[in-house]
Amino acid sequence: MASTDVQRVVPHSAFKSVLHRLFVACIMNDLMVSVVLIQQLHLQQANGCLHAGSDNTVIAFVDVNILDSTGREPYPGDVLVRGKRIVSVGDKLSPEVLKTAKVYQGNGRTLMSGLCDAHTHFTWTNADSLDGLAEMETEEHTLFTARSARTFLDCGYTMCLGAASAKQRLDMVIRNAINAGEIPGPRSLANGQEMAPADGALIPGITKFVDCPDDIVATVDKMAKEGVDSVKFSMSGEEILENLRAEDTTFPDDMVAAGVEAAHANGIRVCSHARSDESIIQCLQYGIDIIYHASFVSDSTMYALEAQKDRIFVAPALNFPYATIHEAEAMGYPVPKAEYNGYAREIEVAIAGLKEMKKRGIKVLPGGDYGFARTPHGTYRDMEHFVNLLDFTPMEAILSATALGGEIMLHPHELGKVQPGYYADLLLVNGNPLDDISILSHKENLDIILINGCIHKDVTNDPSLQYEAEKSLVNGDRS
Ligand SMILES: [Zn+2]
Repeated sequence: MASTDVQRVVPHSAFKSVLHRLFVACIMNDLMVSVVLIQQLHLQQANGCLHAGSDNTVIAFVDVNILDSTGREPYPGDVLVRGKRIVSVGDKLSPEVLKTAKVYQGNGRTLMSGLCDAHTHFTWTNADSLDGLAEMETEEHTLFTARSARTFLDCGYTMCLGAASAKQRLDMVIRNAINAGEIPGPRSLANGQEMAPADGALIPGITKFVDCPDDIVATVDKMAKEGVDSVKFSMSGEEILENLRAEDTTFPDDMVAAGVEAAHANGIRVCSHARSDESIIQCLQYGIDIIYHASFVSDSTMYALEAQKDRIFVAPALNFPYATIHEAEAMGYPVPKAEYNGYAREIEVAIAGLKEMKKRGIKVLPGGDYGFARTPHGTYRDMEHFVNLLDFTPMEAILSATALGGEIMLHPHELGKVQPGYYADLLLVNGNPLDDISILSHKENLDIILINGCIHKDVTNDPSLQYEAEKSLVNGDRS
């Protein structure tokens, strides 16, 4: 396992001044905007749920309060869905149109886009330790992963960005099964196992350790060929570990540079576990696309982050440290004092930095690292943290989870808004989340969930919409 010697894990930093790094980071910004990622757009083929309607299926929402995620205040109106897409927003629908549609009477309930979790681990098993994430056998783990994917959709999340898979192929297998309409789940972008240098984080069993630039290039190439949408570099420590603190930086520069170059050459993105200031600078310097955590941001790094705000996404994943400090003990998971103190300090610093990022227009998205015993699947509530801890208004938090969700999922003109032409990934919410953002943390407030124009949840329990016999493994033709 990794050394506790901070000097040993940051050998590459000694000879480079921060100023030099920031200068290079600025140049990288110019270069990166011209990098065309040939993304593997698995989203386009997504069916999204078992109950896929035909392209002629028409669904109408009448008398809803439309929260369209353009920034406009909600307004009353009707919305029409045909096949997978939204075709009309706001205009009163005629009786002729309604005659052809499955009609929902909204009675003023909120109609909004499905949500995005930008830091998803379908494969995190609700274990009570990091080691626990590696212990489930493959068969059970596959089933668990399918269930957690469904849980996200049950909770209104129609977009999930995979932030590392405990077993290499699980994220991809589940993404593919969802896209084929075999199991219900959100649109997702799959990741592989997170990569770290030999003495880095996290742990054997879920981490792919790499030991030199050639090794990371070969690993990225292999993962890209297998079909991941992104790779993840674990670039700093973590307070839950005894041997590496959050502010320890673990990835040598040459490996970051080689890994990012290989990923982009393969048309895939790189996300990073980057809590330390130095690891965040590396992300900016070498063109990493998505920064997770970003807890310890110095003033100079903040400027560099701002300079790249058009291309970079930050997802802080505050729920784990928050739950560790405030809730873990009560749930029966005693937290060692060092871990408690470490996260308490980190979250305090991170909140100040994230407020500053918001002020500067840096894209900060919800996404919570769920899947530990103290933060189990189904308890998704990052938008609450954005409002309560980061001074987002409910509207700003929703825009981050929807419109920015469409951006980070690489379909800003088709996902994350209630607009004509967008995919019909919609929530009919019993209540107004602008009055109380926590409404969106409780799935019982979601009366209808639509993904790809098909109905995943309908509290009216219309059997003709909930069930499709020919796709059932129970009642299908087994002769
Ligand atoms: Zn994570």
